[in-house]
Amino acid sequence: MNNFQYIRTTSTKAAIDAVAKDPDARFIAGGTNLLDLMKRGIVSPEKLVDISRLPLNKIEREASGVRIGAMALNSEVAENAFIKEKFPLLAQALQAGASAQLRNMATVGGNILQRTRCHYFYDTSLPCNKREPGTGCGALEGNNHMHAIFGFSEKCIAVHPSDMCVALAALDATVLVSGPTGDRKIAFADFHRLPGDKPHVDTVLEKNELITAVTLPDSPFTKNVHYLKVRERASYAFALVSVAAGLQLENDTIQRACLAMGGVAHKPWRLASAEKALIGKKVTEATFRQAAEIAMQGAKSFEHNAYKLKLAPNAIVQALKTAAGIA
Ligand code: SF4
Repeated sequence: MNNFQYIRTTSTKAAIDAVAKDPDARFIAGGTNLLDLMKRGIVSPEKLVDISRLPLNKIEREASGVRIGAMALNSEVAENAFIKEKFPLLAQALQAGASAQLRNMATVGGNILQRTRCHYFYDTSLPCNKREPGTGCGALEGNNHMHAIFGFSEKCIAVHPSDMCVALAALDATVLVSGPTGDRKIAFADFHRLPGDKPHVDTVLEKNELITAVTLPDSPFTKNVHYLKVRERASYAFALVSVAAGLQLENDTIQRACLAMGGVAHKPWRLASAEKALIGKKVTEATFRQAAEIAMQGAKSFEHNAYKLKLAPNAIVQALKTAAGIA
């Protein structure tokens, strides 16, 4: 690992100024992803600006929803009584992510910005357009069993690894950021990018911008929700496929639905057409199977991940059945 300068800041403005001044400076909070990237030589910042003590860790009720500070720990959000009561899908997704030790270090902002776990990305002896633009994509013709079935490009077929982000996508979150020229709000659906021709750019966040908070609007999905994560071992593994499902029911008729998948695309994959198709339908397995078919339109597999074309719709059906209480 290269030598680097380390400074700690106590105000958001000072942190942004420190990073803006130096093209090789990076923010660091929990460090649960960035330090791995540095140890493996994937990134080599010359300066780390520690933002972990900025006063951005509050979880606050708002007039219509909640504001979660970017420095709130994943474990704090998952265990927060208000989040568990009003946004149980988010609490479930957080509990499914990583290990207890990592959840105690990882922040909400860092979770959103974590990078893919494609093993070609982490092995600097192998080609990877995301790590080193123009070198090729090792996964395209290589071992791609963990890779995307939606939204990929010929430059990159990686998936986004976060569980939390799948729930945030389903729940219509907004990301609040601050930068040298002021503050802005970014709809969660627009925050992460598809790879296209620039797979090295994961999000629309500018280099000198800092995530300060995430907001969620009031949600009707307080009861009939389920986060289903299918993985290769029971704990501390990234999703092969995950589903965040929420239903608002009146008797056994669906009034509203929220649905998103993880492990299938370069960004959390919202299933808007399937959500629409569920409205007004009765809670039955056939209803959920039909929604899953709609959700899978346009999916395409590679040599080693064809199993996802079956696993993903089955996971959608199972998550909806569990959310509806008919599993
Ligand atoms: Fe790199 Fe993306 Fe290809 Fe993985 S899938 S090797 S991250 S370009």
